[in-house]
Amino acid sequence: MQRLRQIPTLLLTWYRQNKRDLPWRNNPTPYEVWVSEIMLQQTRVEAVKPYYERFIQELPNVWALATCEEEKLLKLWEGLGYYSRVRNMQKTAQTLIANYDGVFPKDRERLVTLSGIGEYTAGAIASIAYQQPCSAVDGNVLRVISRLLANPTPIANVAYRKQMAEELTAVYPNEGEACAEFTQSLFELGALVCKPKNPNCTACPLAEICEANRQNKQTLYPVKQEKRAKRDESVYVFVIQTPEGFCIRRRDTGVLKGMNEFPSVVSHGEGVEGALFALGIDEYREVKRQRFTHIFTHIRWDMTCVWIRTDVAPFDAYALDEIKESISLPTAFRQCLRIVEDV
Ligand code: SF4
Repeated sequence: MQRLRQIPTLLLTWYRQNKRDLPWRNNPTPYEVWVSEIMLQQTRVEAVKPYYERFIQELPNVWALATCEEEKLLKLWEGLGYYSRVRNMQKTAQTLIANYDGVFPKDRERLVTLSGIGEYTAGAIASIAYQQPCSAVDGNVLRVISRLLANPTPIANVAYRKQMAEELTAVYPNEGEACAEFTQSLFELGALVCKPKNPNCTACPLAEICEANRQNKQTLYPVKQEKRAKRDESVYVFVIQTPEGFCIRRRDTGVLKGMNEFPSVVSHGEGVEGALFALGIDEYREVKRQRFTHIFTHIRWDMTCVWIRTDVAPFDAYALDEIKESISLPTAFRQCLRIVEDV
């Protein structure tokens, strides 16, 4: 605990001199903190910036988000993946309007009752937007604190994360801007200095109090459990060209359920003809095929993308430009557009 108490003073001075200028850092509203934090889960800061700016421009507040048409919403999210997140965000926006006059509650206890808002996001909103003494423990923070304390507890351990969140909350500045800065300073240290592979301890404001640094065992922490092996799946993806355009349908099962796709079939060795038959197509001409891969959290897709022409559209068909500009397609399927573009 003594080590933790020393962090704010050391880190805040460093943060004020070294923080990056990010679009969600300029006196953000709770809505802006929320949008940025959801986008930043699993996606790099540089990649998030244009998404964030476009999203906030199109949907600047909970009212705009709550009433946004699904297709537009998914299009704004296209490329970020994890589409359930933006759907949960819309549900939360609707709940906020129905139950909270469109205003985010200030306390963590009520924030975590909202769809898609967990302990971490609640802590970020409470501390950054409402300047409350409330920690937000993400992967960066877990890494910094695990190293600082040379704590061998696996970071997947829920009790450990909870305890860390409580102990950090106890050492927060009392209230005000310093609370917002302290949360962000921990994120920033993890992102810029205490990096996963090559921590730059010589530039670290916590070096003198860091136990892993003292032992020169930085990369032993945080302790992680073995990752679950990814499952391989072979998938046919059909770019079906008809006189009306290219076919798109909604996925009704499996990964990316509810999202648009070029019609696809998981292959069990039946070949292209059998897979097309399963889609109700028995007369067609194959134009080209190309292999792609896409990696999800637990699945690796080996995709055989096949461009075919057929006279009757078995699904809704759209012009190529419309697909590119207005239809949301997850990255796994969007890359298949290359098959018609690279000719
Ligand atoms: S001294 Fe090194 S290991 Fe410790 S917190 Fe700083 S960067 Fe991380």
